Amino acid sequence: MTQAAKDGHARPSPETLAALKADLAGRVVLVEDPARVRKRSRDFFWYSPILDAELNGLSADILAEAASEAEVVAVAGACARHGVPLTLRGGGTGNYGQAVPLHGGVVLDVSGLDTVEWQRGEVVRTGPGIRMNKLDEALRPSGFEQRMHPSTKRTASIGGFVAGGSGGIGSVRYGQLRERGNIRAARVVTLEPEPRVLELTGDAVNGVAHAYGTTGIITALEMPLAPVRPWIDVVAVFDDVLAAAACGLAVGQDAAIGKKLITPIAWPLPQWFTPLKNVCPEGQAILIAMISEETLPAFRARIAAGGGRITLERPLDDAPGSVPLYEYTWNHTTLQVLKTDRSWTYLQSLHPADRLMESVAEMAALFPDEIVIHLELIEFAGQLTYAGLPLLKFTTPERLNAIIAAHEARGVWIANPHVYTLEDGTRHKRAEVDQLGFKRAVDPRGLMNPGKMRTFTPA
Ligand code: FAD
Repeated sequence: MTQAAKDGHARPSPETLAALKADLAGRVVLVEDPARVRKRSRDFFWYSPILDAELNGLSADILAEAASEAEVVAVAGACARHGVPLTLRGGGTGNYGQAVPLHGGVVLDVSGLDTVEWQRGEVVRTGPGIRMNKLDEALRPSGFEQRMHPSTKRTASIGGFVAGGSGGIGSVRYGQLRERGNIRAARVVTLEPEPRVLELTGDAVNGVAHAYGTTGIITALEMPLAPVRPWIDVVAVFDDVLAAAACGLAVGQDAAIGKKLITPIAWPLPQWFTPLKNVCPEGQAILIAMISEETLPAFRARIAAGGGRITLERPLDDAPGSVPLYEYTWNHTTLQVLKTDRSWTYLQSLHPADRLMESVAEMAALFPDEIVIHLELIEFAGQLTYAGLPLLKFTTPERLNAIIAAHEARGVWIANPHVYTLEDGTRHKRAEVDQLGFKRAVDPRGLMNPGKMRTFTPA
């Protein structure tokens, strides 16, 4: 079944595209070379064998490259006037086909909007296209850094993180991205014949956070910062992953330890971490952590008390040419495995905080031969808990769905990474009400990334 038949949206006709191009001629850089357009119509959906089958080959018709908000407004207005679908693109590192246009049209690359407007103490205002490592580089002399970043910090844009990401390195301290205060303000261009430019503050920023670019184009973001700390990358090894998880939780709960990342990973996943071979002994689980240097003595004591042994301590270095330990965590753990064996895939889970270790042990025991445990300690609704990105061998969609159902039946939430709609990918299987309402106001014809917000009905 074609996408159009599935969700009722149609591809623009050649006549419509010609009218759009005439409208934008000389105002914005447009690229029509099919190979270049297709390349920028892809993201990392291929992590999922199911999405790989569904999305491979889909492409926009035209790539537009915006270098300013005025150019974004020009593209938004033209798409609205001509009824052409518009899909945003930052770094293109999303995992669920978020940046893949299902119905052709325009893919708008906003990586040119990469200027830091200002920084005042613990707040920065920046264009959405700046890469997150460049932003931290720019901030460092002031003594501040971003509160959190995905493990793709070196390739992802801040706008793509806000529109498509959920959390990452730093979430053990600051929670997930959508938690109140983690995004201070967003400037948004609407998809209307005469686009409006809105400034969202407070809870209104949730209109665009994790909305897959279906609710307006972010042209500036105000993000809160944290003081820079001297982060040390650490690997500790344990006899089994439950001991690593229990010790990781104890480290998380210890107020004397400054931490940005706590990641228990079961064997055999470390066998694919080739550059870390010397510090990941055969058969042992590992705990990867980022610890503030002055609190290392307290951390070391916790590791010893938890039955672990530290095999690596080195200052964080994410300059070009080096590989920081966070590139073995979050969804980079999956990537390290997929680099050599594409038969693996993954899930995204959230364990209940009130019976955390019981829940982790229960799920480990339930699928001993099918699932390999990988956990990330995060703060969630004011409590520490483990999010999971467990790896599993893909057999059939039915088996995958049965494994998901078994998690959910035991109170472990799953955000399914094998679907491309916003609703199906959330724990609650619905779009946030504030986003549906906001979409009606900013994209009444449903032209933004059509097909991704399944429950939206165009006016
Ligand atoms: P893109 O992929 O370009 O876009 C993401 C979504 O945002 C798309 O729907 C796009 O249309 C929309 N969008 C982009 N720019 C705008 C804009 N200006 N206005 C409106 N909408 C826009 N995610 C995490 O949250 N945490 C992780 O730790 C993490 N680790 C990852 C590891 C690997 C190896 C990979 C492949 C992915 C990982 N991800 C993770 C997913 C992804 O890397 C992040 O969410 C990243 O922040 C996306 O940024 P991007 O610039 O690549 O976004």
